[in-house]
Parts: sequence; C-alpha cells; structure tokens
Amino acid sequence: MFKALLVEKDDEGKTHAAVQELDESRLPEGEVTVAVEYSTVNYKDGLCIGPGAGLVRTYPHVPGIDFAGTVESSSDDRYAPGDKVVLTGWRVGEAHWGGYAQKARVRADWLVPLPAGLDTRQAMAVGTAGFTSMLAVMALEDHGLTPGDGPVLVTGAAGGVGSVAVALLAKLGHEVAAVTGRPETADYLTGLGATEIVAREDLTEVTRKPLESERWAGCVDAVAGAMLGRVLKQMKYGTSVAAIGLAGGAAIEGALITPFILRGVNLLGIDSVMQPYENRLRAWQRIAADLPMDKLEAMVQPAGLSDLPELGRAILKGQVKGRVVVDVNA
Ligand code: NDP
Repeated sequence: MFKALLVEKDDEGKTHAAVQELDESRLPEGEVTVAVEYSTVNYKDGLCIGPGAGLVRTYPHVPGIDFAGTVESSSDDRYAPGDKVVLTGWRVGEAHWGGYAQKARVRADWLVPLPAGLDTRQAMAVGTAGFTSMLAVMALEDHGLTPGDGPVLVTGAAGGVGSVAVALLAKLGHEVAAVTGRPETADYLTGLGATEIVAREDLTEVTRKPLESERWAGCVDAVAGAMLGRVLKQMKYGTSVAAIGLAGGAAIEGALITPFILRGVNLLGIDSVMQPYENRLRAWQRIAADLPMDKLEAMVQPAGLSDLPELGRAILKGQVKGRVVVDVNA
C-alpha cells in the first residue's frame, strides 16, 4: 500500500482530490518503480488537482508533473534499485499517474539520473519550474548572452520559474531586473540577486508604438500577454527573449513585427515537456553546478500531500511565492 493524492470524478463530472491509501497493483505500466521522496507544485499541477483543464485523460488520477526519488525496481538496464532519479515532463501527472504519491511507475526513457551535488529535495526545489528556467538561460547563452551585456529582465519574478531564473542569472554574473506585481516581494527578489525591481503595471499597458528605448540584454518571460508585447519593443539590438509561460495570457497583446525586423530580436520558445534526453542531462548538470543552493533554500515552502488541494488553488491565483517542496512521506 502507498499514499497518494487521488483525484476522482463524480457522476456530475465534478472532481474531488483527497489523500488515499492505494494498493501497488493500481500503479500504471512502466519499466521503473520509484519510491518517490519529493514533488512540487506547478501551475499545471493546480489545473490537474482541480478540474483538469483537459490535461487529464482518465480518472481516478494521481497528479504531480515532477518528482525525485529512489529506484525500487527496474526491468530496464539503465536503472537499478537504489539509483537516485528525477523526472519532469513527458505528460506525467497529466496523461500518466504522477508524483503526488509515495510510489510511481514510469518509463525508463522519462527519467534522468540525479546529478552529483543535488539531493532529491533540492531537485524538487528546482522542479519543472527551475529546470525550465535553466533551459531558458541556456537558450539565451546559446544565442549570445554574456555577463556584462546589460540588465536581463525576468517576468513573473516572484513565481517559481521567475525566482529560479533570478537566482541563476545573478549567480552567472548578470545584472537582473525583476518584474513583479507583488511589491512586498522586493526584499525576497533582491535577496535572490535582483538589482532592479520593475512594477508589473509599468509593462502591462498595451501601446501601438513600433519600438521603445532599448533596455534589456535578455529576458526570461513567464508571463506573455501584454507584458511580452511591451518587452519585445524594449529589447536591445540583436538580443533574445526566452518565452516560457503564459501567466498573463496566451496572446501577445500589442506585439508588432518591428522588434524582429528592425532590431533583430529573437523570440525563443522553451518547452520542458518533450525536451530531448541529452539536453535534459545538460540542464540538470548545469543546475547542480550553477544554482546557488543557499538561494534555492530561501525560496522553499515545505508541504505534505494533504496541503496540495489548497496549494493547487493558490498557484492558479498567482499566490504562491517561490518553490513549494512536497514531502510525500510527511
Ligand atoms: P507561478 O504561479 O509560480 O508564477 C507565475 C508568476 O507570474 C506569478 O507569481 C506572478 O509573478 C506572475 N503573474 C501571474 N499572473 C499574472 C498576470 N495576470 N500578469 C502578469 N504577471 C502575472 O507559476 P510558474 O512560475 O510555475 O510558471 C509560470 C508560467 O510558466 C506558467 O504559465 C506555466 O504554465 C509556465 N511553464 C511552462 C513550462 C514550459 O515547459 N514552457 C514549464 C513550467 C512552467 P509576480 O507575483 O512576481 O508578478
């Protein structure tokens, strides 16, 4: 038996999430069974703990789009009992049972060995949010960003993706400007390494201007919406925006072609879910090397399985600060 947050659908189509004891025979198919130690809470988890937003295919369902733990058994040569592993993406926690449980069974292809220097708790303090921030920073570097180029903007800075991006960029020697709609998080953000706090409302008015003054040497964007429309027009010549999320809306309001054709600005799409294995490994190794662990610890809010329904609602309202680490055995 193992404990899991199970989401069930009633006859009226309403979903209900509660911690339950499940028999191991209910685990889905897969080559590797993992004793999960930690998981976390992402925006997508908020959706899957609640009505699912079309992401969950079948009920009953165990959400949790990422987890870290120890291999318990494996029919695949790449993994053996006792190996520490981390999983993000591949639609685990949506189409497949996820990490909000003491046990998970998954395909070996989806796992990444935990890099030296990271434990399972730290891996989930990073989680999908931090992993995706690392992919974004790597993409900006691959497109020429180097320290000394000028301020790098991080939008949705007090959220999970944003917090890790601020800490990573600052540790790598970049000047970091953090956009937040929560002024009370300013001390938290400067503690992570931000040197400038930008108020959300400074970047949300939709304008028809073709370009604005050049300000940013790079951007990690978790928000999209009107903010991305404005930010693109403020990018320095030949720089890039790594687009991760849509916390402010899926459309890029007020966007014009001018930043692309007059300033050679690049818009780089970042997807963590289907990311190829080699790049996953590279990102986790960079995280172990480049993320300041003391700063990571400062972002952590601990939780247990029974806290998840409330945390799921909070993240959908943009009320979660930093990174939640869920101890599934607490
Ligand atoms: P969080 O909820 O932790 O953070 C989002 C932040 O965005 C909030 O904290 C808030 O920051 C800001 N925000 C929220 N609503 C608005 C709004 N209406 N206008 C402007 N800013 C807003 O989520 P995550 O950091 O975990 O995820 C951020 C986004 O990235 C989500 O859309 C998520 O789906 C996406 N994502 C995409 C991935 C990928 O593979 N591409 C992987 C992981 C996440 P503040 O309070 O500082 O203003």
